[in-house]
Amino acid sequence: MRMYDIIAKKRDGYELNDDEIRFFISGVCDGSIPDYETSALLMAIFLRGMDERETATLTDAMAHSGDTVDLSSFGSLSVDKHSTGGVGDKTSLIIAPIVASVGGVVAKMSGRGLGHTGGTVDKLESIPGYNTSLSPEDFLAQAEKIHLSIVGQSGNLTPADKKLYALRDVTATVNSIPLITSSIMSKKLAAGSRSIVLDVKIGSGAFMKTVDDAELLAREMVKIGRLCGRSISALLTDMDSPLGFAVGNSIEVIEAVDVLRGKLHGDLRDVCVVLATEMVSLALEVPAEDARSRVTEALDSGAAFEKMKEWIKTQGGDVRYIENTELFPKAAHSLDVKSPANGYVTKMDAEAIGITSVMLGAGRENKDDSIDHSAGIMIHAKVGDLVREGDVLSTLYTNDPASLEAAAERYLSAVTIGDVAPAKKPLIYKTVR
Ligand code: URA
Repeated sequence: MRMYDIIAKKRDGYELNDDEIRFFISGVCDGSIPDYETSALLMAIFLRGMDERETATLTDAMAHSGDTVDLSSFGSLSVDKHSTGGVGDKTSLIIAPIVASVGGVVAKMSGRGLGHTGGTVDKLESIPGYNTSLSPEDFLAQAEKIHLSIVGQSGNLTPADKKLYALRDVTATVNSIPLITSSIMSKKLAAGSRSIVLDVKIGSGAFMKTVDDAELLAREMVKIGRLCGRSISALLTDMDSPLGFAVGNSIEVIEAVDVLRGKLHGDLRDVCVVLATEMVSLALEVPAEDARSRVTEALDSGAAFEKMKEWIKTQGGDVRYIENTELFPKAAHSLDVKSPANGYVTKMDAEAIGITSVMLGAGRENKDDSIDHSAGIMIHAKVGDLVREGDVLSTLYTNDPASLEAAAERYLSAVTIGDVAPAKKPLIYKTVR
């Protein structure tokens, strides 16, 4: 088999057979296919697309290109959630204990933040002692014992995706449905859960900017997940403005605790209930209404909060910080960002707000940058709120006072104040099953 012929075949719009796709992925991993040929095929796929069978084969080959996690001992109970990236998205911290407290098993690998989006692992590491790098044996033993374990990515999971993603990034081939689908789904398949709920974000802070694009991607991922033998559904959720009020690390943990304690209602809790309901319905194989009442009961009774404490403690974290969030260290410097005018907050650019939090030290521009766990933004005025000139729109926190002025300017440029109250947008656009 020759890579040249495979590239030419896709260039001319033909379907690749399974052997050709597997030959490609194995050559990418063993280094026998040079980057220029890989890039040429990626561009041909970008331009010509792939059908369902091709995408499923590509996904499966990528999923098996490295280590895989075996969660089969949990039967149908293991369930994972994937979010396509957001700002202020601390849903995993809330959903995982809810689902585990009603009997699902969440044994999950999460990522670190990069660019304007945050990462669950960084948020968890703001809790002193929390161990994000358990050995594979300890990871599984903990999931067995308390149904919940969240660690950072380790081992050699989906090396094909690492290679392909790096090349897509520099060859203008990221935004292709079969390539995004195979990238995301291969990682989810390798991570081992029997059921998967995808949270596909839409809006300024998201990868997909329109409902139509997000739905196309969601449908493709659900089809491929099913073809690869998983129970799967996708929710299309709003990410035009940040989720909840906190954007950062420790301040997002505090907000998650507030939701689990029943102290905070609103968009964040609502999204978490819908996502957790979907996960419980798949994992426990119960109808959605039944799953929803189990989820709200877990929140209202405090069972989910108890599960969070058990989880943090079992994984080495100092649970006193969860019991009393005042213990989290505060950033040394803060600045209130004030409204320049009277009016309604009509728009908040989530991506720009994510970038503001990176400027304050809460995120990283490059993979190896260190982060400041106490830095971030507390939003006081959200879309639809009426503000007067001088009202505080948000408070910025940092240990680097030199960053405050530029960050405040950036935050102000992300918020639009207008005379007319904005139309209310849905938080959940659609569920794709
Ligand atoms: N996230 C991924 O993991 N892969 C993509 O291709 C796009 C978003």
